[in-house]
Amino acid sequence: MIAASVRATRSAAIAALLLALAFARPSAAPSAFFADYRDGAAIDEHLDALAAEHRDVARTYGIGRSSEGRLIRVIEVGRGDIAIAIDGGHHAREWISVMTPACIADRLVRGDASDPRIHRILDRARFAIVPIVNPDGYAYTWTTDRTWRKSRRGGHGVDLSRNYPVGWGTAGSSDDPASPNYRGEAPFSEPETRAMRDLFDTRAFAAHVDFHSYSQVIVYPWSHRRDDPPDRDRLALLAERTRAAMTATHGERYTVRAGSELKTGAGGTAGDWSYGHHGALSLLVELRPSSGAGGGFELPPDQIVPTCDEALAGVLALAETLIE
Ligand SMILES: [Zn+2]
Repeated sequence: MIAASVRATRSAAIAALLLALAFARPSAAPSAFFADYRDGAAIDEHLDALAAEHRDVARTYGIGRSSEGRLIRVIEVGRGDIAIAIDGGHHAREWISVMTPACIADRLVRGDASDPRIHRILDRARFAIVPIVNPDGYAYTWTTDRTWRKSRRGGHGVDLSRNYPVGWGTAGSSDDPASPNYRGEAPFSEPETRAMRDLFDTRAFAAHVDFHSYSQVIVYPWSHRRDDPPDRDRLALLAERTRAAMTATHGERYTVRAGSELKTGAGGTAGDWSYGHHGALSLLVELRPSSGAGGGFELPPDQIVPTCDEALAGVLALAETLIE
């Protein structure tokens, strides 16, 4: 009887251990910081503190200032020479697109010491992560208008995701300052996109992931024209690896689309520029939710961590594809 119950206890313990291993996250436990949405100052402070605690693998620095003078921050993570750019928050109301790259940075930094897979990737790759490309617009969504999309330039704002020079002025953009897709007076007329330009001038990025929300779609160039890019097959493969890893994490369905297949094109996006001008393999990832029913831009805070889990899995798969 006693022997049997010891055996039962031991096998229950082993089963629990196996279960824990099967469900182990690919990195350190998520910080409580990501239990809710945070404003720009809180995110900057969090990332600065994180980098200060892990100087061996991370550092933060500014790449420019917004129209209203806010510092646009990068957190750089890794020791390798394969450069990967990640950004979010071009569109102010897409709050999950800000929290996700901040959370990916957090997971990478903490995972370096605790997760052999992340450690191996950080030996080969170096991530430059800009969680808030549009800090003025993001601040405005916290103080004044939750649905604001653009920067705050001149009060009317500019759609920063239409201000890059490749395909500037074409489909899906407007020359009317009142339009939500106002492209600005000229390519790189905005300090926020110039900050991204300056970042890309510092090194050759092999890949670039531009987070947005929503619709759970991964889009590869071109977005401003209808033909296939020269690297269509590599882009499609990278997008598919990313998609498969994202979907496998929590079973959320993500799909892959060539930008040229989308009903409405978009000229002047970050991705068409980083690919077209710099040759970075570029993906635009539309995060949760899958549809706008129930408020597409207001993803419940309890979905920040699961969205981060799947986006991190996608980024790790992307990095491993480049390392292969
Ligand atoms: Zn967007």
